[in-house]
Amino acid sequence: MRSLGLIERYRPYLPVTPDTHIVSLHEGSTPLIPAFKLSAAIHPKVEVYLKYEGLNPTGSFKDRGMTMAVTKALEEGYKVVMCASTGNTSASAAAYAARAGMQCAVLIPEGKIALGKLSQAMIHGAKVIQIRGNFDDALKLVRRVCEEHPIALVNSVNPFRIEGQKTGAFEIIEEFDGFAPDFQAMPVGNAGNITAYWKGYREFFDLGKSKNLPRMLGFQAAGAAPIVLGAPVEKPQTIATAIRIGNPASWKQAVAARDESEGLIGMVTDHQIKEAYKVLAATEGVFCEPASAAGVAGLFKLSEAGFFDNIEPVHGDFIRVVCILTGHGLKDPDNAISVAEETITVDANQDAILRPLNLDAVPA
Ligand SMILES: *Cc1c(COP(=O)(O)O)cnc(C)c1O
Repeated sequence: MRSLGLIERYRPYLPVTPDTHIVSLHEGSTPLIPAFKLSAAIHPKVEVYLKYEGLNPTGSFKDRGMTMAVTKALEEGYKVVMCASTGNTSASAAAYAARAGMQCAVLIPEGKIALGKLSQAMIHGAKVIQIRGNFDDALKLVRRVCEEHPIALVNSVNPFRIEGQKTGAFEIIEEFDGFAPDFQAMPVGNAGNITAYWKGYREFFDLGKSKNLPRMLGFQAAGAAPIVLGAPVEKPQTIATAIRIGNPASWKQAVAARDESEGLIGMVTDHQIKEAYKVLAATEGVFCEPASAAGVAGLFKLSEAGFFDNIEPVHGDFIRVVCILTGHGLKDPDNAISVAEETITVDANQDAILRPLNLDAVPA
């Protein structure tokens, strides 16, 4: 499956024709990894699965939307694509534009984007413009520019992005043999992804390919939680730069996904995000970026409040929860290094290296 790319895999459900030239880097078909220790830590009745979207070609779920958006931009005759980005959209747009032979321009908030993401946009040959402003300012600008010039906007306000991203839900349902999980937990930034997943779940449910619908659990960072607070946040702040957004473009759709699914949108502090980020890496061996850990942080928070105590599984013995790990940890090595234990430096001899290993303390 991996070798197909998601447009080929889900062609009947996507707006392409036999003549459409598909721009693909063989995205999608990402693993759904059972997280045994995390499940036990969260709740005895809960079974957590990690949808590891960091394994997409440019290291985030944005590739699902970008294969569709760039494919359609090319089909419609555009020669230039443009986006505002907290980082991953620019990395993905730059890669797919390079693949399509199109020009790409990206607007990013100055100094607020993880180094890995910046390096991607640059090496793929995008015109990278840093603005003295935040993501919301950048999006306003590119929307205007794309309205007034022949440039395709490839942010998630582009409906083709949502079409591509909804395939994540299809993959999860197929992996569970025709069931959606009881809950899906995920970070919410500009809110395109929660919109897309809910659309995907509903489509497969309406087609009879899924026996149930999940309840959607979205999490914003406490310093960037406009949907939770019910008002735009002027100066959003969080270490989870991918969700550092004060006025989500898909706000209404996210609220609809929440309400129609009987789910919730909550918030988690940077401290809770960092703890979940470390737990994922240290106990499950899965390295995601800080924003991606917001969903897992949210599960811990809900569980501590007794949320899962009175919930019955849809089928089987466990409450199934899928966490969307939206981006790869290598995107943002600075954050990993700053939250992890420090390295040590010793002389180059055996005694010196054995001492810190403290082998006497390891059970035989
Ligand atoms: C874009 C992004 C998000 C937020 O997704 P939205 O669709 O904007 O809500 C979360 N995590 C990562 C890693 C991202 O790149």
